[in-house]
Amino acid sequence: MTTTPSPRPTRILVTGGAGFIGSHYVRTLLGPHGPNDVTVTVLDKLTYAGNLANLDEVHDRPSFSFVKGDICDDALVAELMGRHDEVVHFAAESHVDRSIDGAAEFVRTNVVGTHTLIDAAHRAGVQTFVHVSTDEVYGSIERGSWLETQPLAPNSPYSAAKASSDLIALSYHRTHGLDVRVTRCSNNYGHHHFPEKVIPLFVTNLLDGSKVPLYGDGGNIRDWLHIDDHVQGIELVRTKGRPGEVYNIGGGTELTNRELTRLLVEACGANWDTAVEYVPDRKGHDRRYSVDYTKIREELGYVPRKEFSAALTETVQWYRDNRAWWEPLKGRAAL
Ligand code: NAD
Repeated sequence: MTTTPSPRPTRILVTGGAGFIGSHYVRTLLGPHGPNDVTVTVLDKLTYAGNLANLDEVHDRPSFSFVKGDICDDALVAELMGRHDEVVHFAAESHVDRSIDGAAEFVRTNVVGTHTLIDAAHRAGVQTFVHVSTDEVYGSIERGSWLETQPLAPNSPYSAAKASSDLIALSYHRTHGLDVRVTRCSNNYGHHHFPEKVIPLFVTNLLDGSKVPLYGDGGNIRDWLHIDDHVQGIELVRTKGRPGEVYNIGGGTELTNRELTRLLVEACGANWDTAVEYVPDRKGHDRRYSVDYTKIREELGYVPRKEFSAALTETVQWYRDNRAWWEPLKGRAAL
């Protein structure tokens, strides 16, 4: 009698998997509801934003391994591509304010690093490359929402570097036929978010009794997407998306920064008049981002499931309960 060998698990290389979204993706993939036919290698340089503690839950799994390294390291990247089937690429310099202060590292990691990965993926014959991008590549929109076909018009050095990496990634599909899929999502929120980004910065300041800095008139508008929903969207794109396609991933909750701040002040039991300090606006601050996510909804069945106010309350509670996670990071967050 002959036995059919069980198919080999899909070997996924996750770059930036020690960061906020990448680590949630890895925890979800290797968690009780994830697919059981995958192994995951995280490649992460552990910059100020990378944190191995984010991977504690999965660190001892036989299906998990961690490589500390730089996505710009050609030799390391070529070696890793040779033993992986798919790539989900999160690694990036991700904070707009830092890119205004100095953009060199953004160009190096986001542009050169993405090219290093995609070129090595092509040469190694990797099956699928999911490139995680952002709604910020489209630039600001007064009314309505951007479709995936909208030409890119990024405004900050961060979003310009991300837009460049999207175009390089997509060029490898058009030129070489590599199966590249790009996701562009709105602002993420949730637990394990580094305390330099607006929600965790404000929550941790408020829990410490410190002031929160509100840019300009507080009227800038963002769409909020919970990390569970972002990860759901990325998995749909990895497993069911089409090669060479871009998919917007939205959350469906638009708020001005003033409205968001009010909710955070209330959730933390603080007082607006003593806690909120208006500060000069960010240079080149985009007024509003909004993506139309009809394509991923109709083609792949994506629906954001997290209800914003309940999920925001859960997020604030997580920061109340996990001071040991964020307190050591507050010093690192200072520019
Ligand atoms: P993050 O800053 O929390 O994590 C980035 C990770 O990449 C860190 O672990 C860091 O150590 C690693 N990294 C940085 N440079 C590296 C290099 N040269 N080599 C290897 N690893 C390196 O970022 P995040 O918020 O988790 O974002 C992940 C991705 O999602 C990014 O590509 C970002 O542009 C995109 N994105 C984020 C948001 C958001 O709201 N956070 C929204 C849209 C898109």
